[in-house]
Order: sequence, then C-alpha cells, then structure tokens
Amino acid sequence: MESLQARIDSFLKSKRVKKSSKSNSTSATVKWPHPSSFNANPHTLAEAGFYWVPSWEDRDSVACFLCHKELSDWDEEDNPFLIHWQKCGSTCAWAIVRCGLSEDITEDGSFVFLNKKRLPTSKAMEKARLQTFGENLWPHDEQDNHGASSKKMAQGGFVYTPQTKGDDTVTCLYCNLSLGGWDTDDDPMWVHEVLPLRRKVTHP
Ligand SMILES: [Zn+2]
Ligand SMILES: [Zn+2]
Repeated sequence: MESLQARIDSFLKSKRVKKSSKSNSTSATVKWPHPSSFNANPHTLAEAGFYWVPSWEDRDSVACFLCHKELSDWDEEDNPFLIHWQKCGSTCAWAIVRCGLSEDITEDGSFVFLNKKRLPTSKAMEKARLQTFGENLWPHDEQDNHGASSKKMAQGGFVYTPQTKGDDTVTCLYCNLSLGGWDTDDDPMWVHEVLPLRRKVTHP
C-alpha cells in the first residue's frame, strides 16, 4: 500500500467481510459508506496515507500504510490530513512529511516554517523522509554505493512515492518534482537543484 494508486483503488471495490453472531458466522459485502462530498474521500484519505480496511462493525475503517494506525467513524467535516498529523505527528513519517505540510503553508500558498524542526533541511525532516523508504522497499539499496540510495534521496529532499509496487519514483513534496529511473551515478541532490529551476518552481 506504499503506492497512492493502490490506496485509492482499495476504496473503489466492494469487499467481503465477516459478519458473526453468537450462533453462526457468515460474510457480507460492504462498500465505502460515505459520499465524495465528505472531506475524507478516497482521494484525500489515500493522499493522507490511508487505505480501506472495513469490518462489519466499522465500515469506514482505514489504516495508514506506514504506521498502521486505524481510524474510523468519519464525519463530513473531518480532515484526514489534520487527524493523521494530530494523532501520529511524532511517530509516523508520512504524517510528518505529508500531513504536517498544512502547518508550513500559509493561506496564499507560500511556505513559512514557524517551527524550525519542520524546515526541509532539518535533521528531523530528513529522518522522516528516509523512513518513507521503509525497510527493504527501495530497490537501489541492494547495491553498495548506489548514487541513488534511500539515504541520498532523503538528503536530497525526496520521499518515496512508488507508482506501482517496488518502482523507484520519488517526490519532493515542496516543489512536486517527481522522478524515477535512477542510475548508479545519479546525484539526487544535484538533480533536485537543477530541475526545479528549469521549471521555474520556487523552492523553500
Ligand atoms: Zn501513519
Ligand atoms: Zn523540491
């Protein structure tokens, strides 16, 4: 469930769940129960790190792909980014790098880092970015001295955002630069400095 698309897809198909009573156990099919007008819809939930894990009792239960936190009982106004950040902002790397972004962006869309620990260059943010690569998920950590190791990626400002299971797509959540197909002699830091300039993107 590291891939955004896999998380979105998890909400779109109905699922069979166990429906047990004292005497017998049967199964039933359930669908995602809320309309897309909810703040918490398949797209926002998936972007905030969640995929759908329903049970008969909790039909709108979702789990975080990284910290495995489960949440349910969504109300119309609930904001999945804010809730993930509030509940897991000190433990879950996805909550820190993605959901906490709302802390750093003002109403006109510019970045302001009131909390120095949230600066893109801080050690805390670099560590959180590294954790998005998980353990044994990043394909280029198998080879020693690969220029695009997960460590170099995190130093270069990238988080792991695979399109499909096991691919090497990474994204900078500040300038939305997204890249894959990394070679042994690539330097993520250099790439990240050059490409946003060409695209005339401002970078904090
Ligand atoms: Zn989480
Ligand atoms: Zn960037």
